Amino acid sequence: MSPLRPDGDDWIFEASGTRWVPVIGLEVHAQLATRTKFLCPCAYEAGAQPNTQVCPVCTGQPGALPQLNAEAIKLAVRAALALGCDVAPRSKFDRKNYFYCDIPKNYQITQYDQPYCTGGGIRLASGRFVRLNRIHLEEDAGKAIHDRGDVTLVDLNRAGVPLIESVTEADLQTPEDAAAYLTALREILIYTGASSADMEKGEFRCDVNISVHPEGEEWRTKVEIKNLNSFSNVQAAIRYEVPRQILAWESPDPADHPVQETRLYDVAAGVTRSMRKKEGEADYRYFPDPDLPPILVPAAFIERQRSLLPELPAARRERYQRDLGLSEYDAGVLTLQRAVADFFEATARLSGQPKEACNWITNELLRALSGDEIEATCIDELRLKPFDLSELLGLLAAGKVGGGAARQIFSLMLTSGRAAGEILVDLGLEQIDDEEQLSEWCREALAGRASVAAEVRAGNLKAIGALMGPVMAASGGKANPTRVRELLLRLIHDAD
Ligand SMILES: [Zn+2]
Repeated sequence: MSPLRPDGDDWIFEASGTRWVPVIGLEVHAQLATRTKFLCPCAYEAGAQPNTQVCPVCTGQPGALPQLNAEAIKLAVRAALALGCDVAPRSKFDRKNYFYCDIPKNYQITQYDQPYCTGGGIRLASGRFVRLNRIHLEEDAGKAIHDRGDVTLVDLNRAGVPLIESVTEADLQTPEDAAAYLTALREILIYTGASSADMEKGEFRCDVNISVHPEGEEWRTKVEIKNLNSFSNVQAAIRYEVPRQILAWESPDPADHPVQETRLYDVAAGVTRSMRKKEGEADYRYFPDPDLPPILVPAAFIERQRSLLPELPAARRERYQRDLGLSEYDAGVLTLQRAVADFFEATARLSGQPKEACNWITNELLRALSGDEIEATCIDELRLKPFDLSELLGLLAAGKVGGGAARQIFSLMLTSGRAAGEILVDLGLEQIDDEEQLSEWCREALAGRASVAAEVRAGNLKAIGALMGPVMAASGGKANPTRVRELLLRLIHDAD
């Protein structure tokens, strides 16, 4: 454990009288949600049998020619527009040359000096704006599997899957900033449909660049930590790496100082370890790919993609608070996943009751999804649809059903997929509104409780609770409580 502690929220570290400032940038590889690969017609689905989703192009056979997937360009442009980037009217592909078993061509198709977009960025909830330097298109490599004794296995299914790599400026300073940025980026990619960004499937992978320098001085050597596959690992790696670098700079022996290198975060040990000295760009011998034409993106294409952009989560949160009167917290919960926000909006529209729709979704529905009473684990798998929930809200608003019965009906709707009205009739859960029946129960409750009636008459309206209880019990919980209350008050005052 490092003896260094950051000073306040800005994450400035005080060591031997020097104030050290961390500088952090993030690179994210996100897999585009195309049906087929980037440069060949192979379908790709994670988890398939190894080497079953391959062809001469993605296995790098001599003479095989690539063919660009137009869908990948559409999705990439949509992501760029959602992030406020400038899409280049013309960009090109380059070969990045290196030798490794997961890349049989011995080069990766990527974009070197002409990325398809530049600029843009994300404003975090803290107010900090994180600028994007660029986003470029590239193909993924296959997977080398090293944990099978003394052999290495190679699975080329993932080779040639389209990625966008987004690179921020070094605008971040704390682990919290990094997590907030990654959350927002992931949310935008999912909302636009550009990527499913499932981290467990490796569809959203982060590299972190970190350096530290004494306040007011020039920036120093940066170190890259590669392949972080969860937000908590990104934060843990930063928490470890920043103090490590400061202590290394504090050493009087220059041999101890940080060097430009690539490190890996060892989750079990909670430390970063040197993987290799960082290659210089020259080592990759980039050159334009002769087999692929440049990408030309006409203005009309950009406008078409812009018109397909959905309302983004930050805008939705603001609208829910402003127009629908929801709290900041509720708006945040609803917009965490696009499918949940869409479900909420449909329910609110159909029922005309946004607040009630929000309560039922954030409380009952999300709780049911996280529990194990139903099979569905995400809202799309539910048999209950927005129309069904809006019907239940309608029954509640019309006083046909009470809160307890509504919850009972709701859980049956979730498991059976049946309509609220149907369950209501079947189980005989209709709220009882019949005045004669209700009056009879009220008179029974009043009999022998003269002192309670006197208290109510004297102005203590809370005392009426002692009368409501017996009525609700007599009705098996089905009496309409609003009507019961009215009737009790009338009976008490009529007796005056
Ligand atoms: Zn292929």
